Amino acid sequence: MNRLFDPHWTEREYPAGGARDDLGIETLGEAILADLLPGINNQTSRARYFSFWAWVLRDFIRDTDLTHNQAAFYEWLRRREDALILAYLAHGCNSGAAGTEIGSDVWANGEQNAYPLGWKSLKSVDGGAYQLYYRGALLETNVIRRIDEDAHDNLTREVGLPLADAYEQAVKETDYVKRYLDASQLRKSDIEEYARHGCLCLLKDNDLERRRLIDTFFRFDSPDVFAVKRLATLCFFLDAIRQSEGQPLSQADFRATLYFWSYGNHHPYLPTGNFLEPAQRWRAFQLRQYFVYAVESHWGLFLHRIQNSRMSEDDYIHWLSDELDLGALGREYGLELPTFDANQLTLTSFLDAIRDALPSEAWLPSPNALNYLLNEHALYLKIRSEKSRLDVQTYLGKAMLMLALIYWRSQPWKDQPGWHYLSDSFAAGRMPLESYLRHVDQAVSDGWTLASWIWWFHRHYLWLQHRRVTLEKLVSRNQDTSKFILLYENDDRTPQYQGIGLDGPKMNAPRFPSALSILSDVGVIEPAGTGYRLLPEGVRLLEMFRDYSIPKWKEELEVDETTFPAEETTGG
Ligand SMILES: [Zn+2]
Repeated sequence: MNRLFDPHWTEREYPAGGARDDLGIETLGEAILADLLPGINNQTSRARYFSFWAWVLRDFIRDTDLTHNQAAFYEWLRRREDALILAYLAHGCNSGAAGTEIGSDVWANGEQNAYPLGWKSLKSVDGGAYQLYYRGALLETNVIRRIDEDAHDNLTREVGLPLADAYEQAVKETDYVKRYLDASQLRKSDIEEYARHGCLCLLKDNDLERRRLIDTFFRFDSPDVFAVKRLATLCFFLDAIRQSEGQPLSQADFRATLYFWSYGNHHPYLPTGNFLEPAQRWRAFQLRQYFVYAVESHWGLFLHRIQNSRMSEDDYIHWLSDELDLGALGREYGLELPTFDANQLTLTSFLDAIRDALPSEAWLPSPNALNYLLNEHALYLKIRSEKSRLDVQTYLGKAMLMLALIYWRSQPWKDQPGWHYLSDSFAAGRMPLESYLRHVDQAVSDGWTLASWIWWFHRHYLWLQHRRVTLEKLVSRNQDTSKFILLYENDDRTPQYQGIGLDGPKMNAPRFPSALSILSDVGVIEPAGTGYRLLPEGVRLLEMFRDYSIPKWKEELEVDETTFPAEETTGG
C-alpha cells in the first residue's frame, strides 16, 4: 500500500538537491533569528560595509551618465567593490572581508604594478557582496529603501546619506577617490594609499563614521519595528558582556549563557528591567537549537547505520535496543531507573528519573544547572565530540536525555516572551517544540513504554518527516534530497531502508558572532581573553537602554531627493 502515496523511492530520478536540512527543522531557527536581530545576519560581520555600500549607492545615483536600474547598479558597483577588496588584501590585516577568494587571484600577492577593476567578486551573483549578503541588512537597517515604484535601491535621508558622506570623508583625500574613481585599473601605490584610509579595519580612526554607524545600529529615536527589535537584542548583548566579568564568551559559551542565564558554573547572568524580555526571547531561540540538535542526533545515527546495510524499521529499533545500555546511562548520570529494559520501563519512569536526578535549584536559571553533568549543554558537547558515528549510547542515549531535560526545563517558560517562537503557529509545520511537548504528554498519559516511545519518535520525527520534506522539495523545486531509498525485496514486502547520504546534528549559525564583530568594529566592546569587555561607548548605550521606551512618533522614511539626478539631465 505504501506505493500508492509514496513515490517509487527506489532510485534518483531528479537532480540531487543541495539542501541539507533533511528534516525541515532548521529554517525555523533562521525565522527566529530574523525576528530577534533584523539587520545583522550571519554574513554581515563588518560594520564598515554599511557605510561603504551607502557611499557606493549614493555615487551610482548621482552618476548622470547611466541607466538607472538595479541591474546597472550591480554592474556599476563592481569597480568600487573590487578596489575595496584589493585594498583590503594590500592592507594585509586579515580582519575579514567578502569576495577575497576571487580577489586573491587578481591580487596575486601584490606582485604587479597595476590591477584591473570590474571583475565579479562572487561567482553566484552579479552584484557582489552587496547583492548576496548586505542588501537585506541594509534594507532592515533603513540605510537603503526599495519600493515598487523605484527602479533601483535608494538611499534614505535619515540613515543612508549621513553614512555615505562619512565614508567619503574618510577616503576623499586619496588619489584613488580624487582622480581614479572611474578608472578600469589602479596602480598598486594607489590601492595601498586607499587601504590606509578605506580598509574595513580602520573604522576606529574615523570618529564621525564610527558614531554614525553606532546611531544606525542603535536607533533609540525610531519606532521602526526592525530598529526596536535590533536595539533590544544589541543592548541585551551589551548587558550580557557587562555581567560576564571576563568569563569566556565563545560561540558555545554564549549559547549556554543565553539558555542557562549563567557564565559556565561561575556566576549567574541576571537580566532585569528592559533586559528581561530580550533575554527570554534569546533563551527560546537556544531552546529550539538544543531541541533540533537532539532530534538530528537521532537522525545522524540512523543514516550512518543504514549506510552500508539494508534495514527495516523493526531491524533498526532492535539494533538500538540491543546497543542502548540503560543501566550504564543511569549510572553515568545518576538516574534511578526501576528497570533497564526499555520494553518494561515506562516513559513516565524514565522522565521522572531524570527530573529526580537533579536538585530543584539545578532546574532554575543559574550556575547550579551547569554544576551537574546532566544538562543540555554538556550533553550537546558530548555528542559533538563523539568520534564513533555508530555510538548508540551517545547519539541516542544522550540525545534522549537532552529531550527529556528540555521537556522539564521549558515547562515554566510557556507564558513568557519568546514562547511564540516555539508554538505551532510560528513553526508552520516545521516540527514545533509545543507539539513535541504534547506528544510526550500523550505518551505519558497513555502509559507507553520507553521502547514504544522510541519507535514512535523515529517513525514520526525521522522517517515520515524526511519523506514529507523530500516530497515537498521534489514538488516545489524538482530536486531530490532523499537520504535513503526504500526497497521492497523481503519475502513479506516489508520495506527496508538503504542509506544514500549522511548527515550529522547541527545548530543554526546564531547571528550573534556577526553582532559581536560589528560591536567591536564600532568601538562599543572589545575582545578580552576569550570573552569581551565593554568600552565607555558601550556603557553609555547600556545606560540609555535602561530607561528606554519605544518612541511614539511615526517616522516617515524619506529618500534623499538631492541624490537623484534631475530628470532633464538623464534625457537625450
Ligand atoms: Zn585592514
